[in-house]
Amino acid sequence: MKKRSLRDLPPQALDGKRALVRVDFNVPLKNGKITDDTRLRASLPTIQYLREKGARVVLLSHLGRPKGGPDPQYSLKQIVRDLEKLLGAPVEFIPDPATGVPTTRRLPRGGVALVENTRFWPGEEKNDPELAKVFAALGDLYVNDAFGSAHRAHASTEAVAHLLKPAVAGFLMEKELTYLGQLLGNPKHPFVAVLGGAKISGKIDVIRSLLPRVDELLIGGAMACTFFGAMGLEVGASLVEPDRIALAKELLATSGKKLILPRGGVIAPSLERASEHRSVAADAIPKGWAVYDIDESTQHDFRARLLRAKTIFWNGPMGVFETPPFDAGTRAIANALVEAGKKGAVTVVGGGDSVAAVAGMEDQLTHVSTGGGASLEFLEGKELPGVAALEDA
Ligand code: ADP
Ligand code: MG
Repeated sequence: MKKRSLRDLPPQALDGKRALVRVDFNVPLKNGKITDDTRLRASLPTIQYLREKGARVVLLSHLGRPKGGPDPQYSLKQIVRDLEKLLGAPVEFIPDPATGVPTTRRLPRGGVALVENTRFWPGEEKNDPELAKVFAALGDLYVNDAFGSAHRAHASTEAVAHLLKPAVAGFLMEKELTYLGQLLGNPKHPFVAVLGGAKISGKIDVIRSLLPRVDELLIGGAMACTFFGAMGLEVGASLVEPDRIALAKELLATSGKKLILPRGGVIAPSLERASEHRSVAADAIPKGWAVYDIDESTQHDFRARLLRAKTIFWNGPMGVFETPPFDAGTRAIANALVEAGKKGAVTVVGGGDSVAAVAGMEDQLTHVSTGGGASLEFLEGKELPGVAALEDA
């Protein structure tokens, strides 16, 4: 179902109005300093648009996982300065939403306020309607731009959306829904998905949801080793999920033609002994050695398949990319996506580690989802509560 976007609201719906905006300011902090401000920057288009239209912007976000109440370590006050710099405007801080209404009313048109960490109040994660009322009093309309939190029904993402009208998607949310929605709805073919990472178990619902939609599903990462096991191959000391072998067998039997496994891997006796690495064919993994990356022939094979694609979705690194030289396969896939994009393919990357693996390449990809778990749940075909609660277009 398509959702109403901030873009669809007429000027009078925004001018002078208090826009309560759920953003994702869950940024990494070290000693009170932001180490990566990607998420702040990602919310700027929505905030600046609202300001230009004369709205008074009240921002809501969670930060980290505070346990049972306020904790200075997780205070959003720590990000006010950075936000002010990025916006080029002062930001009023609201330490307690229950007493914040006067501050929101005093904001000038185009003014910005930031409410303290929503998770400081126990009602947040319980989707408490009373807390939602407190949040709703801070705005006249609701904008959700926190796609990454939309898979959780929380007071600031779900309950509040029912209390304010209009309740619409911000630009970042809209972009996520458009590109991820296209993968499920009407992808241009050939549609090739690349899945990797550590475990099949966490990705099985995505695999099941994507298989009928894709032309090919390329498997890398440790996940491939569970398939090798299912094929009766020796997997050595590779990370395998013995309890998923049966599942892998079933997938091979039902969708074997679409599943493309690595031809070989880069192996080592252990990560500590990475310098002893060498490449072997998939059917020649020695006992005691583990696969830590796809080998070069697989890189070439996957690249060729990706260059034929019109739509590509990638989740999960091809190897232990945190430990060189086992980052080579992951980097090769990232480069192949960029190359395919230049030839006109739509390229979408989602996940946590896969997104980290393409850091700095975002401009050369169609869409890098900031959603993490939410992107995967979306692709599993699940309804995200924070999205469902918004108005239909
Ligand atoms: P994402 O966060 O993109 O969804 P995952 O969390 O599923 O990805 O998987 C990422 C992890 O998988 C990385 O920490 C990486 O080291 C690990 N990994 C990938 N390939 C292997 C492998 N062959 N052996 C062990 N771990 C692997
Ligand atoms: Mg991960």
